[in-house]
Amino acid sequence: MATTIIDGKAISKQIRQELKQKTDTFQNETGTVPGLAFILVGENPASQVYVKMKGKACKEVGFYSVTKELPSDISQQELIKLIDAFNNDPKIHGILTQLPLPDHIDEAAVIESIDPKKDVDGFHPINVGKLLIGLDTFRPCTPAGIQELLIRSDIDPAGKHVVVVGRSNIVGKPIGNILIQKQKWANAVVTFCHTGAKDISYFTRQADILIAAVGRANVITADMVKKGVVVIDVGVNRVDAPSSEKGYKLVGDVDFESVKEVADAITPVPGGVGPMTIAMLLANTLQAAQEQVPVSE
Ligand code: NAP
Repeated sequence: MATTIIDGKAISKQIRQELKQKTDTFQNETGTVPGLAFILVGENPASQVYVKMKGKACKEVGFYSVTKELPSDISQQELIKLIDAFNNDPKIHGILTQLPLPDHIDEAAVIESIDPKKDVDGFHPINVGKLLIGLDTFRPCTPAGIQELLIRSDIDPAGKHVVVVGRSNIVGKPIGNILIQKQKWANAVVTFCHTGAKDISYFTRQADILIAAVGRANVITADMVKKGVVVIDVGVNRVDAPSSEKGYKLVGDVDFESVKEVADAITPVPGGVGPMTIAMLLANTLQAAQEQVPVSE
């Protein structure tokens, strides 16, 4: 059987088209335009690119968005004051503080200052807790995008052994927490791997679905997976490519060329998980707006 290359770009496009229609309906019913505030601290070039892409995506689905660019030496108190203004702004339904923040700012304190009802990143401890106990909440965008990729590729994780390599709070832990729930399109048996594992290949070889969120180029090779595995590659790593215009290229955590020969399905990098993250941010923002401005009977 030929390996399925899971096309995140096409799936994300489809989701954004659906969201545009839902946004139009919501606006007709409530007179409200979903609004998303971006907060960008300092001049991290990658963060600037991400925020620009997210702002463009907002425009395409018909959202209102505003970006506050703040100097890297802004105090934590001033930053939290600005977040509080957005917490109280009825035009804003979602707030996203682009991470990482400068070292003098306590990321956890900033995340906790966002109203959980506007926490479209799903990072607030209240929303993390709700996710863990299986309540409806904002799911962090990248993990939500991974589950959506599985759903739309008709790959049901129920009863499967999902091995997650990586345990970050933004990808590894939440995707495991989502797929372990006794819910539809979840109900998997989940194993987490990290640098504390003596030999990750002992675990990865047992995976029916392998999710790599490591941040190291090509650490998963064909000899580390079993035949027929489904591979979701979250990693985005820059490697030198002297012959390319930019001098580098982006690759995942998985050695795509060798692993695709044994996998049933695999996501490419770029064009797999990446485009889904923005689509799910838009979905979370529409959900936030719908919850804050319910349609009157
Ligand atoms: P992170 O916070 O650096 O976490 C990496 C995890 O991988 C850690 O839990 C670490 O273990 C584990 N790890 C590292 N090297 C390992 C090894 N050799 N063997 C086993 N485990 C290892 O990274 P992240 O934020 O989760 O991101 C992971 C990757 O996904 C990055 O490349 C990032 O750029 C990408 N990403 C992509 C998107 C997207 O939208 N496409 C979104 C978010 C992240 P310890 O906990 O033991 O240190």
